[in-house]
Amino acid sequence: MSIEALFAGKWIAGPKIDNAVGRINTINGNGCRAIANYLGEDLASKAEIDETVEQYIRLIDAIRANSLKADISVKATQIGLAVSEEMAIANYSKIVEYARQKGVFVWLDMESSNTVCSTIKIYESQVKNGNVGIAIQSYLKRSIDDVKRLADEGGVVRLVKGAYKENPEIAYTEWKERTQNFRSLMNYLFEKSSEFTIATHDLELIRDAINLNRIYNRNVTVAMLLGIRNRYAYELARSGFRCSIYVPYGTRWVDYASRRLREASNLYLVLRSIVER
Ligand SMILES: Cc1cc2nc3c(=O)[nH]c(=O)nc-3n(C[C@H](O)[C@H](O)[C@H](O)COP(=O)(O)OP(=O)(O)OC[C@H]3O[C@@H](n4cnc5c(N)ncnc54)[C@H](O)[C@@H]3O)c2cc1C
Repeated sequence: MSIEALFAGKWIAGPKIDNAVGRINTINGNGCRAIANYLGEDLASKAEIDETVEQYIRLIDAIRANSLKADISVKATQIGLAVSEEMAIANYSKIVEYARQKGVFVWLDMESSNTVCSTIKIYESQVKNGNVGIAIQSYLKRSIDDVKRLADEGGVVRLVKGAYKENPEIAYTEWKERTQNFRSLMNYLFEKSSEFTIATHDLELIRDAINLNRIYNRNVTVAMLLGIRNRYAYELARSGFRCSIYVPYGTRWVDYASRRLREASNLYLVLRSIVER
């Protein structure tokens, strides 16, 4: 068994929609929303891309049928960006328009830096009609400009540190710098944006977000990944703060699990994430 497979069960709901529905029910029962993601990235086969779009339509139906408090989150490279921007925009529009009819919010994940311009373009094709959000990575030096532009357009940002290996010319590669930039982007969002999500397990940043919200009183959510510090998310929700947990499911879990393993800073935290619920 690979090391990724050992952890996959903690970080991933399971292979099927029903597994995601089960996890989301538990999360909702603990007072948090969920963000459901069907695993997969860099898909180039039309059949796989079509199957992915269909899977999101079924996921939206399952969220409605089970009265779940859940958004969905889609990756541009799983719905056609690896083939063409036009294909990704057409598939994104199909998912977003269906989700709007059903009252389900749609996030766009952010992937490696070579896809950022296209991902923002895909997002902007739907931003004016609302009900959509996009992840922005604090490790990218360009992100302050992106956050400013998206805030002006009425976009909804999910701020993350960033999970891909990037070049120091375009990215802050040191933990301290990406955390500092996270803090300044978060401050900007509190000042200029009415609705956004702070997606991190960094307890200091979460405490800062809670304190800032006492001043600004924004529609802000703290989001974490399935299997990482979820008990803390449940406590936050009990204290009255909006919280959400990202729930990936599906069979294409290797890339996702490798990113999680890479960022767990020490063995103790990885082992703790196995026993934590
Ligand atoms: C809801 C959500 C959505 C996301 N969406 C995206 C996206 O669209 N694009 C993208 O590039 N990235 C995304 N990410 C991942 C993000 O970019 C980071 O890679 C990840 O959250 C780790 O960074 P951190 O902010 O938690 O801070 P860190 O400084 O990495 O970690 C904070 C604390 O949590 C612990 N921790 C972090 N990861 C683990 C782990 N795997 N196991 C055990 N402990 C751990 C750390 O050791 C540390 O104590 C998302 C994260 C979340 C929470």
